[in-house]
Amino acid sequence: MRTHLKLPRRSFLGLLFLFSLSTSALYFIYSAPGIVNEYLFMVQARSIQIKENVRSIGAQVLEQVVRGAYSSVNGTDYAYDFDISEPYAQTTTYLPEGFTYLPNQRCPERLPSMKGPVDMNMSEISLEDVERSLLEEDGSLGSGGHWKPQDCVPRWKVAILVPFRNRHEHLPILFRHLVPALQRQRIQFGFYIIEQVRNEPFNRAMLFNVGFKEAMKDLDWDCMVFHDVDHILENDHNYYGCGDMPRHFAVKLNKYYYMLPYNEFFGGVSGLTVEQFQKINGFPNAFWGWGGEDDDLWNRVQFAGYSVSRPPGDLGRYMSIPHHHRGEVQFLGRYTLLRQSKERQGLDGLNNLVYIPQVSRRRLYTNVTVNLSRELAPVADSAPEASEPRLTLSGS
Ligand code: BGC
Repeated sequence: MRTHLKLPRRSFLGLLFLFSLSTSALYFIYSAPGIVNEYLFMVQARSIQIKENVRSIGAQVLEQVVRGAYSSVNGTDYAYDFDISEPYAQTTTYLPEGFTYLPNQRCPERLPSMKGPVDMNMSEISLEDVERSLLEEDGSLGSGGHWKPQDCVPRWKVAILVPFRNRHEHLPILFRHLVPALQRQRIQFGFYIIEQVRNEPFNRAMLFNVGFKEAMKDLDWDCMVFHDVDHILENDHNYYGCGDMPRHFAVKLNKYYYMLPYNEFFGGVSGLTVEQFQKINGFPNAFWGWGGEDDDLWNRVQFAGYSVSRPPGDLGRYMSIPHHHRGEVQFLGRYTLLRQSKERQGLDGLNNLVYIPQVSRRRLYTNVTVNLSRELAPVADSAPEASEPRLTLSGS
């Protein structure tokens, strides 16, 4: 009797072990969005960094050996210098302190008020406290986080769109850094927080499309900045205006050891003029869950004949607020959709999206709450030939 019982128990334990192993594996694939992905990029960045350091130190050691040999021959002394840190790149000269410009002139792009590296403070703070300190600094900050410079005519009217769910402690940290930086850049701006409610997977791209439409009902913006709530700029010379080409601002993230994870990376913070965004038919609506929508935006931009511009040197450095992905699932179907980017561009985006938002004006931002579902952005069944993308020029 005993021997009969032993076997099933052992196999039961074996089964239990296999079950827990496979559920943990499934958890990492489905429910820990980006963890594996981010980890891989981190490892990749770290190994590149180590390789570069070794190469640079090796070169310096060799140089010192040669110089040492040389000095022993002719008696000159050379100091050893192992400083491999990258200095902050200055693009062109900034206007000097005390430079005056007139209220009826366009604001210069490189103002003396822009100070370069930003004082980073990632500690948590309440929204009320940030509100208070921002208003103390500059009382002209209007409701909805609207502001424009009084001492010159702004070059750009920028709507900052932030997709949002369940990140209340991040928002004040973003405002604390970004509002003063944009004021120093003398850009006209307003903030739109587009909050997804209910239980569908997070759809960052669709939220941006909603934000774009709502922001344009509010004011005649000419530039859109698509901004993750947990990305904090480290240098205010990273100018948030738009340009002839779509812009990728968040080039070097601390989580990737300040290296671009791959050339087509277009995530974190990006910006397009209203015209550019309409021409590419906005973001795709079909990316439910973490990942891929920024890659698709990159494709759309290329198919429309644009190329992406980036801030030079270290200006595009960002610190991300550490967090766990709080149950946001990753989108495994993204690779299939990315292969169809071209065919889908004219079918899915600004032109097939309907939604019912709740809009309310807050002190520092306009809140757009929306319940997203797949039915809000139906895509016609028959995709046109890959060689003939249908790009829409309408932003309706
Ligand atoms: C995802 C992107 C993401 C990037 C960096 C890619 O695999 O598709 O959406 O921005 O990884 O994390």
